[in-house]
Amino acid sequence: MNERDSEQVAHSLIARGYERVSCEMEADVVLLNTCSVRDMAEQKAVGKMGMLGRMAKSRPETVFGFLGCMAQARGAELLKQVPHLDLVVGTQKFHRVGDYVDDLVARKRATLAAVVERSLNRMEDLRFSIIDVEEEVGSQSTIRDQSLVPKQATAFVSIMQGCNMHCTFCIVPRTRGAERSRTIAEIVSEVGALVADGVKEVTLLGQIVNLYGRHEFPTVAAVYDRRNEALVEAPAVIDRRYRKSPFVQLLEAVNAIDGLKRLRFTSPHPIGFRDDLIDAMSRLPKLAEHVHLPLQSGSNRILKAMHRIYTAEKYAQLVGKIRAARPGIAITTDIIVGFPGETESDYKATRDLAEQLQFDNGFIFRYSPRRETPAAAMLDQIDESVKEARNQDLLGIINASARCANERLVGTHVEVLCEGPSKTNPARLMGRTRTNKIVVFEAEENRIGEIFDVAIERASGFSLSGQPVD
Ligand code: SF4
Repeated sequence: MNERDSEQVAHSLIARGYERVSCEMEADVVLLNTCSVRDMAEQKAVGKMGMLGRMAKSRPETVFGFLGCMAQARGAELLKQVPHLDLVVGTQKFHRVGDYVDDLVARKRATLAAVVERSLNRMEDLRFSIIDVEEEVGSQSTIRDQSLVPKQATAFVSIMQGCNMHCTFCIVPRTRGAERSRTIAEIVSEVGALVADGVKEVTLLGQIVNLYGRHEFPTVAAVYDRRNEALVEAPAVIDRRYRKSPFVQLLEAVNAIDGLKRLRFTSPHPIGFRDDLIDAMSRLPKLAEHVHLPLQSGSNRILKAMHRIYTAEKYAQLVGKIRAARPGIAITTDIIVGFPGETESDYKATRDLAEQLQFDNGFIFRYSPRRETPAAAMLDQIDESVKEARNQDLLGIINASARCANERLVGTHVEVLCEGPSKTNPARLMGRTRTNKIVVFEAEENRIGEIFDVAIERASGFSLSGQPVD
């Protein structure tokens, strides 16, 4: 989501005549879009901005800004911590960044001119700063423009902002606000424009993407007639098995866009994964065979303390339903270790569930207390060394299942959408399978943006490699 927000800001600045530069030392404007999900991310952002202090001294007319979640959560306090900071813009105001940057660039240039003319002693004698972390009605619809690079094959599309779930470890409801969704028509129009520009795959983004539109748009009653491959709209009051959520209505609308080849979404919440969505997974052909389904813990006691409102058994049942609906589908997850009060037996329940479910991959996080969240105030915080040991142990399990899932593909042909040069070896190209696995191969650059089969020759826990099949 942050990548998408950054693109939107870049697009708005480019539309005003700014240009991207390859090195921050050449820039007139340096904006850092920030994450607050873990303390480490905040420390990195503050550290990076601190390092730019030298540049601020040598080129005082440069504009420096923090955007996004940390800016939202910490606001004016950041100006005290980073003296050369000019701009702090929260998560509902990305669309105002262009105006603020224009204003600051003009003021700083005027100040510099005053110093050159000697009507002012030093730039520091006249400081301006802009802070905007207000909420704004309709801000969810402002992340909608994209600057595509040539042959760009994939794109993110923001469909909603905010979250009302209030998991006790999570700062997102505070930094992103309450759930707000864009309309289906707006989203379809954005995806249609991307496809017209050559994009073949879109990923719909939301904090709890499968609960899209639940406060704004009606759940319709519908029955899917499998014999005639058609939806039969049914009366409003109907058995809940036949309800079709706004998210499934959206998936159907996007799936129907001509020229789109693959459709993904991230991240769903297990409680929003109802039968209508499982049904959609089995019948919408463009939905790619991958679901990222955050587990967070395998202990019911800890899930309850996290306010995750499902049980480990329900989660496992859901994974079974998804796998039955779409054979071969990849399931990846997020797990937090060392949540306050997590005992060895709680951790063992997580470990056992991870072994049982054999995820295709997963992100393991050591619990990081976030300010003003209920979990940060819980008394039984876990020692960092225990968190680290559990992290390493669980990584071993996840890496083993990821490696197994990848090794099963050696000797097969997989469909790959070629995205561009490999990050680890720019002499080769990379793409993703429909199951979201990275494949590295040798091919001419003119194949970027194409979909073709690759014969898989080798697998690691992280990627696959092989040769394109022509
Ligand atoms: S559902 Fe996700 S974004 Fe929302 S509070 Fe829970 S962890 Fe945070």
